[in-house]
Amino acid sequence: MHAFDYSFDMENYMTKEHFARLKKFASDKETPFLMTSLSTVARKYSELEKSMPYVRIYYAVKANPSEEVLKLLMGLGSCFDIASIYELDLVLELGITPDRLSFGNTIKKARDIRYAYERGVRLFATDGESDVRKIAQNAPKSDVFFRILTDGVGADWPLSRKFGAQPDVIFQNILLARELGLNPRGISFHVGSQQHDVTQWRMALSVCKELFDATKEKGIDLDLVNLGGGFPAHYLHPVEETYVYAAEITDYIREFFGDKFPRVFIEPGRYMVGDAGILVTEVVMISRKARENSIPWLYLDVGKFSGLIETLDESIKYPIYSDRSGKASDYILAGPTCDSMDILYEKMLYRLPSSLEEGDRLYFFTTGAYTQTYSAVFFNGFPPLKAYVVD
Ligand SMILES: *Cc1c(COP(=O)(O)O)cnc(C)c1O
Repeated sequence: MHAFDYSFDMENYMTKEHFARLKKFASDKETPFLMTSLSTVARKYSELEKSMPYVRIYYAVKANPSEEVLKLLMGLGSCFDIASIYELDLVLELGITPDRLSFGNTIKKARDIRYAYERGVRLFATDGESDVRKIAQNAPKSDVFFRILTDGVGADWPLSRKFGAQPDVIFQNILLARELGLNPRGISFHVGSQQHDVTQWRMALSVCKELFDATKEKGIDLDLVNLGGGFPAHYLHPVEETYVYAAEITDYIREFFGDKFPRVFIEPGRYMVGDAGILVTEVVMISRKARENSIPWLYLDVGKFSGLIETLDESIKYPIYSDRSGKASDYILAGPTCDSMDILYEKMLYRLPSSLEEGDRLYFFTTGAYTQTYSAVFFNGFPPLKAYVVD
């Protein structure tokens, strides 16, 4: 077991002034709730745009589908990666045009493909033969890109196994797609979410290049590489800055494709919105299970069922801030429901002020991605996590 010191450096996450503003906004609201900062999302977007000026950004809507975030990104010129027809309806309603959409989920019902096609979507991700056939039938002549399998090594939240296929399978599917009248555009991958190891992009890009070459021999000119998601947010463990990832990846693309770049897409989710979120929670109870040598349990009014599901296996470790200072203790952190899996951190203890009391607020930083939409609608009767959008 190791503990993390609560006295983290605020400036690594947010300026003190910005945090003070958010705290003021939060002061009269009942916990628990999430605040998403639009100015932070805008900053992340422009950082990425500046460091990879040649990419087209497809924001992964599932990371944080709040209307204000989507409208902001629409205004900044972003495109959008959608996972379902429901996300499709959401973005169309906001006035985002279908030429800015990519249906990135490889698992689709035939009628959902048809629905998307009828609403103007012409770009689909795929990884399997049956999906290629469904797209050809329900979205004729559409552009398709093919997802290769990655192993997710180096990622805190891997997406391995479930998506993508081996290059030889992909190769056959590309030929099939052409046969069926689709327009094979290129290759995509996802190296795993919160990816610490930038060389994972190099491995995936080398496979892209192989497939570009192999299909060229069959008369197919692929011209698109989709770098997927994986760019990190700032949780407890430090990560490299955007420009470091960008510079490395740019070098890899040049290494495999020379100076004449293919079209390059990227699908950031966590990167774009993670840092923008602060989840505000209250200490419900503090208790010790034995008289001696026992680590205190800190029960909060949020848990696995109110948006913090990515604490599964303690994969994602959020920085936690308390207003109190002074001597610190180690704590086990748990949620409020009557389910024993509703424990946040037990293997890794959090070091927080020993003066913490029931009723105190804690602020979970970097909770803008994959939180609110994961929260259950009525488990134990608790309502879904409230969400506000702030500057
Ligand atoms: C979830 C998802 C993303 C976003 O991944 P992050 O690691 O959050 O950036 C991108 N592309 C696809 C296809 C996804 O399913």
